[in-house]
Amino acid sequence: MIITSLDLDKPGRQSGFLQVPYSHNLGGWANVMIPITVVARGKGSTVLVLGGNHGDEYQGQIAIMKLARELAPEKVSGRLILIPSLNFPAACAATRLSPLDGMNMNRAFPGQAEGPVTSQIAHYLTHELFPRCDAVIDIHSGGRSMEFVPCSHMHLVPDREQRARMFEAMLAWNTDFAFIYADIAGTGLLPVEAESQGKIVVTTELGGGECIPASVHRIAQNGLRNVLVHLGVLKGRLQSRASLGKAPTILTQALHREDYLLAPESGVFEIAADLGAKVRRGQTVGFIHHLERPDRAPEEIVSQSAGYLVTMRAPCLTRQGDCVAVIAQPVSARQVLNA
Ligand SMILES: [Zn+2]
Repeated sequence: MIITSLDLDKPGRQSGFLQVPYSHNLGGWANVMIPITVVARGKGSTVLVLGGNHGDEYQGQIAIMKLARELAPEKVSGRLILIPSLNFPAACAATRLSPLDGMNMNRAFPGQAEGPVTSQIAHYLTHELFPRCDAVIDIHSGGRSMEFVPCSHMHLVPDREQRARMFEAMLAWNTDFAFIYADIAGTGLLPVEAESQGKIVVTTELGGGECIPASVHRIAQNGLRNVLVHLGVLKGRLQSRASLGKAPTILTQALHREDYLLAPESGVFEIAADLGAKVRRGQTVGFIHHLERPDRAPEEIVSQSAGYLVTMRAPCLTRQGDCVAVIAQPVSARQVLNA
């Protein structure tokens, strides 16, 4: 059962912790302490901003820590709830999954009140935070395993009005690419729970790997600020791709299993196309080399559709079944909104 010293419904600025009981050998009555900041002022929307759903994805964690420190309460209309490192134990360990219970936060929803630590955090969001919110922003990157072309992304939720509002918020991130994705690897996702509660859900994949260039930090920080202005919770000038002198965002979707290319066998992965590049159907986009049998021709990874290479595996060493590349097809706004 999670407790917090904060009154989430009180006006003003508060910083503290969500506390999850966690008993271990050297701490019988210990708590996991998850930092949280709430800034509330006047009437308006409530927006929950989350980083570190996966611990090894630091772009969002840094952007939210900076926002929480620098945010002047008079700039807020409504309420901002900021949690930089949602899976805090995983963030401390630079791992995707929690080192305490081995769980993936993004497969733990709706969660259990008395379950493992990760499941308790999911339960708290499902029952305490999501119901208070109008919008939920969940900032991801590829972590250590994948490298994405920096993009905002979304599911095709069945409710058309909710989908249209999510679509506008997704574009407010002002990334070069936006990506409509399908869940090919399990259930229990945080965005799916928030979507089922009718929220405007904004998610991202901002690069990945262990090295984050300054340009990607800028995309994370400027995009987050702009989405908050778009949602009306933060005062400031709304920027668009056009006002920034940029071409419109390239809309893409990968809704079919064959868009997600898996390694047919273990080995050393070589990508053969650049991230964000156009790819033909039947094009070889990568190879799996055999360390033990370098005389064998490498296994080819072949695109099953025409589109853009939106993500690739980050580490070269690859196991059979790892996702090594995703090809997303171009799609129009009308197709996304009416599908
Ligand atoms: Zn993630």
